[in-house]
Amino acid sequence: HPCTRCERPAVVFQPYSGMYLCKEHLIDDVTRKVKRDLRKYNLQPGTVAVALSGGKDSSALLYLLHKIFAPSRKVRIIAITIDEGISGYREKTIENASNLASDLEIPHTIVSFKDAFGRTLDDLMKESDRPPCSVCGALRKNLLNRTAKQLGASHLAIGHNLDDEAQTILINHLRGDIRRLVRLSHVNGRVQPDLVPRIKPLRHVPESEVVAYAGAVGLSVCPKACPYMDEAYRLGVRIFLREFEDLHPGTRHGIVRGFDRMIGALGDAYPPASLVPCRVCGEPCTGGLCQACKMLGRNG
Ligand code: SF4
Repeated sequence: HPCTRCERPAVVFQPYSGMYLCKEHLIDDVTRKVKRDLRKYNLQPGTVAVALSGGKDSSALLYLLHKIFAPSRKVRIIAITIDEGISGYREKTIENASNLASDLEIPHTIVSFKDAFGRTLDDLMKESDRPPCSVCGALRKNLLNRTAKQLGASHLAIGHNLDDEAQTILINHLRGDIRRLVRLSHVNGRVQPDLVPRIKPLRHVPESEVVAYAGAVGLSVCPKACPYMDEAYRLGVRIFLREFEDLHPGTRHGIVRGFDRMIGALGDAYPPASLVPCRVCGEPCTGGLCQACKMLGRNG
C-alpha cells in the first residue's frame, strides 16, 4: 500500500488515524510525537539520563533523544544500563546497549545489582519466593535513581510506550488502586526531593510503531524475552487491550487521554506522598524503609 503522504510503499498502517506511512514518514511521525511530549516537560539546559536496557523501546528512545538534542546541545544525553544479573539473557541486551551508546558517542554507565546490592537477580531468586518482577523492579528503580543523581541528571527518561502506559493505567483501574494510579502521574516529570523526575517521551507512540521505527533506523534489537517474566495479570490486560484495539482503534489513546484529563481535574486532591530517606540506603521512600531494602530483607 502506498504512503498516505507520499506514494512510497508504506511500512505501517495506523488504524487509529487511517494513515499509511512509509519509512521516512514513520520516522517523522514518531519524532513529532516525541517532541510534542518533550515540550510538556519543559526541559532546561542540563543532563537527561536514559534508562537503556538495550531492548527496542529504550534503544529507540536513546536514538530519538540523541537526534533531537545533539544539534542544539541544550540538553546532554547520557545512558544508564542496569545489569540485574540474569544469566543467558542480559549479556546480549547489555552488548546491544553498549554498541548503541558507543555508535552515538553517548556516555554510558553500567551498574549491576551484584555491585550495588551484593547479589544478582539470579542469586536473589534462589533465596526468595517473591515474584521476580517485583524484586527486579524495586531494585532497578532504586539503582536507576541513585545512579542518575550521582551523574547529575535532571531527568530520567524511561522507554515506556503507549501500550505500556495504557496497560498500567488500566491495571490500576481494574484493581481499584487510585493511589497508585495517581502516583503514576506524579512520576511524570514532577519534582520531589531526591527523586530524579521521570519522563516518558514515547508515551504516545504505539509499541508496534516503536518496533517499526527501530527497524527503520537500523537499530539492532534482541528478540529474546526475560526468563523471569511473570506478570500474568499484565499479560492478560495486554491481550485484552490488543483485541479491543483491533475492534476499536484508538482505545489506548483514549485510556491515556482520559487518565491525563482525570489527573488534571483532580488538581491537588491526591498530593504526592511526602518522601523520607530510607533508613538503610538513604533513597527516598514513603515509609522509612524503601521497597528495594524490603526486598533484600534489610531492616536497618
Ligand atoms: Fe526484571 Fe521482570 Fe523485566 Fe525480567 S521481566 S528484567 S525480572 S522486571
